[in-house]
Amino acid sequence: MYYDQLETRCVQGGYRPGNGEPRAVPIIQSTTFKYDTSEDMGKLFDLEAEGYFYSRLQNPTCDLVARKICELEGGSAAMLTSSGQAANFFAVFNIAGCGDHVVASSSIYGGTFNLFSVTMRRMGVDFTFVSPDCSDEELEAAFRDNTKAVFGETIANPALTVLDIERFAAAAHRHGVPLIVDNTFATPVNCRPFRWGADIVTHSTTKYMDGHASALGGCIVDSGNFDWAAHAATFPGLTTPDESYHGVVYTEKFGRGGAFITKCTAQLMRDFGCCQSPQSAYLLNVGLESLHVRMQRHCENAQAIAEHLAGHEKVAWVRYCGLPGDPYHALAQKYLPNGSCGVVSFGVRGGRQAAEAFMGRLKIAAIATHVADARTCCLHPASTTHRQMNDAELAAAGVSPDLVRLSVGLEGVRDLIADIDQALAAV
Ligand SMILES: *Cc1c(COP(=O)(O)O)cnc(C)c1O
Repeated sequence: MYYDQLETRCVQGGYRPGNGEPRAVPIIQSTTFKYDTSEDMGKLFDLEAEGYFYSRLQNPTCDLVARKICELEGGSAAMLTSSGQAANFFAVFNIAGCGDHVVASSSIYGGTFNLFSVTMRRMGVDFTFVSPDCSDEELEAAFRDNTKAVFGETIANPALTVLDIERFAAAAHRHGVPLIVDNTFATPVNCRPFRWGADIVTHSTTKYMDGHASALGGCIVDSGNFDWAAHAATFPGLTTPDESYHGVVYTEKFGRGGAFITKCTAQLMRDFGCCQSPQSAYLLNVGLESLHVRMQRHCENAQAIAEHLAGHEKVAWVRYCGLPGDPYHALAQKYLPNGSCGVVSFGVRGGRQAAEAFMGRLKIAAIATHVADARTCCLHPASTTHRQMNDAELAAAGVSPDLVRLSVGLEGVRDLIADIDQALAAV
């Protein structure tokens, strides 16, 4: 590549227009692609030639944007999906099926926890959840003979725990399986998990990558580092013939760098169809072009607000790994030296009622289920996403009744602090 900096990758990665071609990534809004002969098209169906025939499997706009994210993460291949949920489902199901087992951090996004602990269990995939802070012995004890992968989040949503990626990667590799890391909150601007030994990275691009709360999306990136063929018996789907493609063996035909994503596209996207629309991929790319600028500001604003909250008499506690007293500060200094994300959680003195009253008085920050876009928003999990739980169940889930999750946006930080102060003053 003729460029090296992450900033350049954000702005120009993935797409290199030729003479007279569109400067912006073109939206190829077409379900199908035309061929001169059936034989030409047949080669695509057999994975004998590269090209497009139906946008459920691959679309040029989506591929250009996937290639940009691949460059940002430093991977070998990538694909877009319709959502972050689809990305995590595909990343795991591509290598773990009925009768298999996966080790996952217990501190993960609620939607992913439900996908694993309920829906994928129904499909016959079993999961063992371990605390991201577990001892080496506890982590070791979670593995079984049928374990196919380890899964965690760089910065967990909404727990804000930081994963010790090197430690989890080392454990996975000792057992001959890959580490999958959901890097949604950190984004490749603040952490590139492949550098620390992760093998597969996933994203909900709905969050900071899009950045404007306009398009749902997900992405899977392969590092190209995991040697599937060296663990052929564990990953027969990648290392033995696929009869639905005339006996192609993914590792043999597409190599270490291409096997995982090609199989995931050729089988899972073909059969489940969780594809991103070219329109959404276009919007995602507009977001990616400013990701490096926005992440810096999200982190600066969040740091200033976390510090302000930590010194406020009406605030009981603050969780943000950029604060020196935070339990994850040391890990953050290693994995997130330039900043973590814009999400801060804190407790309002006076518990559940005080938290609800505080949020009701905010004027700039809106109450929304979303996180990680340009507009500051907040959520009271105890009365919304976790409202079916009583206080004891909330405690077990790590959500205290007074917890407010604040997603700090890109507004002026003095305005945001003034808004928080007037709302706190009224409770
Ligand atoms: C939001 C989120 C998801 C799910 O993504 P969707 O795009 O909403 O499907 C997965 N992982 C993390 C860390 C998230 O924040």
